[in-house]
Parts: sequence; structure tokens; C-alpha cells
Amino acid sequence: MSNASNVPISNVPTLDLVLSLQSELGLRLHSKVVSCYTLAEQYYLKSFPRPALLINLRGLSAGVAELQKNRLRFNAVLLQENERAFLNEVVPHEVAHLLAWQLYGRSIRPHGVEWQQIMQQVFQLTPTRTHAFDVKRAAKLGYKYTCHCKGKEHALTLKRHNLIKGGRQYICLACKRHLYFLKVDSHLIN
Ligand SMILES: [Zn+2]
Ligand SMILES: [Zn+2]
Repeated sequence: MSNASNVPISNVPTLDLVLSLQSELGLRLHSKVVSCYTLAEQYYLKSFPRPALLINLRGLSAGVAELQKNRLRFNAVLLQENERAFLNEVVPHEVAHLLAWQLYGRSIRPHGVEWQQIMQQVFQLTPTRTHAFDVKRAAKLGYKYTCHCKGKEHALTLKRHNLIKGGRQYICLACKRHLYFLKVDSHLIN
């Protein structure tokens, strides 16, 4: 028996902090944005300028609509952790901000009646200001580890963090190296 076999090792999927739009998940995000615009154009019978997309947001926010830049930024970690809810709720939520800006300009409140109406009538969704999984899911993943992959960070739960402190080791699926502790994101766990 080799020494290594005495160490329980489990795999942790890698979470990318920045996702390429050319990745499979990036392409699914992009096509969801496109289908939101298709719905809006059928509803309003006019065309809207397509926004630039980035999947590079960090922290607790799932998405941000940058109105003047006509740009949407999404959170790569939350997208990977909650794909279905993310595509079905966060994407229309942020697209509705851009549509409201295009339709009504700067005089409206961000989550006011105009935005709510787009959510309900165009996307058939209940207009809620925040994404239910934001804090709940992200809060569990406040323990940041790193490996040998460039630009990758592994977000672990407190439970896993404590297992590591107790001697368990995890390896990255991509580089096959042990994870080592980086920092506690106090922003996420408090
Ligand atoms: Zn919003
Ligand atoms: Zn790695």
C-alpha cells in the first residue's frame, strides 16, 4: 500500500471565475439572452440593440445590467452552481433592465412598474428584486482554495473546509493536484 492511499481523496469540480462565451455553458447563456430578446421583439414589434455579454462578475451579485454600455455581466460561479435557475430567472431579470432602459430611459426606478411589467408580460415571470439563491448558495461557498490551474479558484463549503482541516485532501479534477487554502471570503460567510 502506498502512502497516498491512506489519505481519503475526493474530487471537487472546478469552478471558473471567468467563463468564456465559447464554453458550453457560455453558449447556453448566450442563447438564453437571444431568446429573451426574441420574445421582447415579438411583444413590442420593434428591435432592440443586442447587448455585449461578459461572464466575469464576482461575489454575491448574480448579474448586472450596465445600461449606458448596453452590457450584461453575469457571475460565473453562481451560473455554474445554479444553471437552471440562473438561465430562467437571472437572465430575463437583467435583460428586462436593458429593455426598460431602451423603452423608457433614465426617468424610471430600476425595479419600478415598467421593469415589473416587462417581467410579467414579456417573460411571464414574477418580478422579484433579488435572486433567491444569491446569498443562500454563495454563502455556503465562502472558503476559497486554489490549485495549479491558472486563474481557477475552488469555492468550498464550511463542511468541506473543516474536513480538510481534519486531514482530508481534495484534488482538482483538471490539474490533479491537491487544493490548498487561499482565503475565507468573509463577505460571503457573514
Ligand atoms: Zn434588478
Ligand atoms: Zn487545478
